[in-house]
Amino acid sequence: MSERLKHNPDNQSSTTSHRVAVIGAGPAGAAAAQTASMLGLAVDWYEKETFAGGKLNRYYQLFPGREEAEVVYRDLFDPNHYREVNKQFGRFVTGIEKQAGRLRILVDESQAKDADAVIVANGFDFFDARLKEEFGYGIYPRVITSPDLEYHFKTDISRLRRGEEDPEAVAFVHCVGSRDQQVGVPYCSRVCCITGIKQAIEIREQFPRCRVYNFYIDIRAYGNGYEELYRQAQEEYAIRFIRGRVSEASEDQYGRIRVKAEDTLLGKPVKLTVDWLVLLVGMVPACPELMLNGQSDSHGNGRSFLKADNPHASQAVASCPGLFLAGACSGPMSIPESVASGRSAAVQVFEYLKNRNSSL
Ligand SMILES: Cc1cc2nc3c(=O)[nH]c(=O)nc-3n(C[C@H](O)[C@H](O)[C@H](O)COP(=O)(O)OP(=O)(O)OC[C@H]3O[C@@H](n4cnc5c(N)ncnc54)[C@H](O)[C@@H]3O)c2cc1C
Ligand code: SF4
Repeated sequence: MSERLKHNPDNQSSTTSHRVAVIGAGPAGAAAAQTASMLGLAVDWYEKETFAGGKLNRYYQLFPGREEAEVVYRDLFDPNHYREVNKQFGRFVTGIEKQAGRLRILVDESQAKDADAVIVANGFDFFDARLKEEFGYGIYPRVITSPDLEYHFKTDISRLRRGEEDPEAVAFVHCVGSRDQQVGVPYCSRVCCITGIKQAIEIREQFPRCRVYNFYIDIRAYGNGYEELYRQAQEEYAIRFIRGRVSEASEDQYGRIRVKAEDTLLGKPVKLTVDWLVLLVGMVPACPELMLNGQSDSHGNGRSFLKADNPHASQAVASCPGLFLAGACSGPMSIPESVASGRSAAVQVFEYLKNRNSSL
C-alpha cells in the first residue's frame, strides 16, 4: 500500500529535496516522522503492518500515570501534527544498503528505494515465554503473559472470571526472559517491574477480593512516578511483594495453577494456588534482517539491539553515514523515552543533511 497523504489541507509539503526514510510506525517512528516532516524533510514512512501504533495498540492503560493508551495514540498520530508524509504501510523492510553515498531501503524482498538518511525505529519483540518451559506458557491456559493481560484489559477483562466468580488469586512473575543467562538475555528490560505493579493494581480494582502476589528478584522502579506507584500498590492496594524466584508452575485438577517458589527474605519455601499466573516478559531485539554489520551485541536467541556509536552524544551509526536509531530498537525503553528519541533522531538527521549540503 503506497499512499501520499496531505493529512491536513493547511499543511505544507516538504521544503527540501532530501528524502528521509523512517522504518517503523510505533511511538518512536511516529515522533521521528512527525518531527522530520515538520522540519521540511520529505519523509517515506515504512511500516510492516497496514496500521500504525506498534506495541501501543496492545495496551490498555499506560504506566505510571494510567493514561488510556488510545488517548496517547490519538495524540501521537494526530494528522494535524504532521506535514506531508509518504506512507508506505503494509511494507516490510528487509534491509538497508549503502550505495554511492546514499542509502537504499530494501522492501518486501524485491523493491528498493533511495534515501539521503534513514531513521530505524523498528522496535522490539516480546520475549517468547515458551522458552521458559518451567512456567508452562502455551501448555496451561491460565498461564499468560503481561501483553496478554493488557489485551484482556483492553478487550474483555471478564475472561479472567471463573463462570460468574471473580478470580481469588493472581500471581505475577518478574524477570521472565530478562536477567537470565540461560536464555541469553543478561540485561534488565527496565519496564516490566512497573508493568507488573500497574497490572497488579488494575487486577485489584477490577476484582477487589482477589489476592495479588508479585514474585520479584528486586524491584527496579527507575522512572518518574514509578516508586510512588510501587508504594501505592503496597499501601493502598495491599499487593503482596514476595522476594524470590518461582521455580515451577503446574496445573491442578481444576485448571488452576500451582506455584512453587522460595521467599529469599524469609528463607522459606512458598506454595500457592492461583487462578492466573502472569509472566512479566522482557523486551528482545526485533527483526534481525535490519541489523548492520558489527553494529550490535547479540542477545536473546541470536538477535541484537542496534547500537549507536556514541550513544552519549548522538543516535548516529558512524560506520554508516546517514543512519540513525530511534526508540526500542536500541534497547529497552518506555514510550516517553521512545518518543523523545524519535524526535531527537529527526533533528539529528536535519543537522546531518544541512552539514552534508554545506560541505558539498
Ligand atoms: C508488557 C509491556 C508493557 C509496556 N507498557 C508500557 C506502558 O504502559 N508505558 C510505557 O511508557 N511503555 C510501555 N512499554 C514499553 C513500550 O512498549 C515501548 O517503549 C514502545 O513500544 C517502543 O516504541 P518503538 O516505536 O520503539 O517500538 P514498537 O512499539 O515495537 O514499534 C515498532 C514498529 O516498527 C514496525 N516494524 C518492525 N520491523 C519492521 C520492518 N522490518 N519493516 C517495517 N516495519 C517494521 C512494527 O510493526 C512496529 O509498528 C511496555 C513494554 C512491555 C514489554
Ligand atoms: S524491570 Fe524488573 S522485572 Fe523487568 S527485568 Fe528488570 S528487574 Fe526484572
